[in-house]
Amino acid sequence: MFPESCNPHRIFAVPTKCFDVLQTKRSVVHNFNAGPSILPEEVFDEASRSILNFNNSGLSILEIGHRTPLFQQVMDEARSLVKELMHLDSDHEVLFLHGGASTQFMQVPVNLLNENELAAFTDTGVWATKAIKEAKLFGHAEIVCSGKESNYTSIPKKFQVPATARYLHITTNNTIYGTQWQDLSLFDQFNVPLVADMSSDILSRDIDFNKFSLIYAGAQKNIGPAGVNIVVVNKNILGKVSRTIPTIMDYRNHIEAGSLLNTPPVFAVYVCMLTLRWLKGKGGVAAIEKVNNAKAKLFYDTLDSLPVFKGKAAKEDRSKMNATFIMDDGALEKEFLDLCKGEGMVGVKGHRSAGGFRVSMYNALPVESVKALTDLMKEFAHKKG
Ligand SMILES: *Cc1c(COP(=O)(O)O)cnc(C)c1O
Repeated sequence: MFPESCNPHRIFAVPTKCFDVLQTKRSVVHNFNAGPSILPEEVFDEASRSILNFNNSGLSILEIGHRTPLFQQVMDEARSLVKELMHLDSDHEVLFLHGGASTQFMQVPVNLLNENELAAFTDTGVWATKAIKEAKLFGHAEIVCSGKESNYTSIPKKFQVPATARYLHITTNNTIYGTQWQDLSLFDQFNVPLVADMSSDILSRDIDFNKFSLIYAGAQKNIGPAGVNIVVVNKNILGKVSRTIPTIMDYRNHIEAGSLLNTPPVFAVYVCMLTLRWLKGKGGVAAIEKVNNAKAKLFYDTLDSLPVFKGKAAKEDRSKMNATFIMDDGALEKEFLDLCKGEGMVGVKGHRSAGGFRVSMYNALPVESVKALTDLMKEFAHKKG
């Protein structure tokens, strides 16, 4: 695709015609994908340039060694930006690990749960269920509440946690069902370490991240491309299991190695770093939360004003990241999806297991995209009403 002369091995400065290729206008205007998902335009721009010539090194980001000062700076900045944006204390370490959030379903119990011990779980959907299944391979898992009866359209809030539980695991945002724990202070009453899968709402709202003993998130929803996890762990909870942990699975080894135990997903970490920089430039988590609140309000206010569309999640549990809704008439659903497509909107179709519609409004989605979608919904509703 790129002219041969763009190979940075052969030239030091990348000729402008390479950048001409990068200026290709994107035909998709509004990206509501659930993950991998939209990233800031500036990030795409910078990452594209770095594929040709990273930091004027004459090398692509894809071909530099992970133990070079060039990459060390990337890893250091990425980790320190997470610390800064989350206001983490010195007990909390930040790691960038392989494997996606699904690997953490296993890695968390391997590091935290003895075979004869109990971990407590809130069952709020598919991802929580998968985390429970893995924990059972390494110890006991007790489901303290479940939204299964409501098809996970609401979050059960009345439950107890056994005092003997080694930790309580929650999924802060349920990507498929469009529900989200809104009041995280609910967990303060239980005197057990809190572990959270924050894959789809990490860094989207200003919360006390320090109260979590462990947070994990696949990067591809709100922070970067697929291929890397962010793990935030309070080091005081480690070293308490009796099993032998395989080297690569042991968080302590990754902490000691500064998240460079083996070759990390270099490009994925780099793009995360760019997105974190962007977020800092926007004013950080508190500032992006305001934007996210405004987008969610615009979306849900519109949804509730148009009887042809129906929200799926219980109002009080609605996610500000992923909104799910349906129409009673399947033919109309198809018509609306086609209409979205015609307007350059992608990612409006619901998860394959849930049907209907789902629109994801992650940090990088501009308010204008929500405006365009809600305008289209209104127009459609008027035509059909
Ligand atoms: C997408 C998602 C996962 C799975 O992430 P992978 O990186 O594909 O393993 C887990 N939990 C939640 C909440 C998710 O949204």
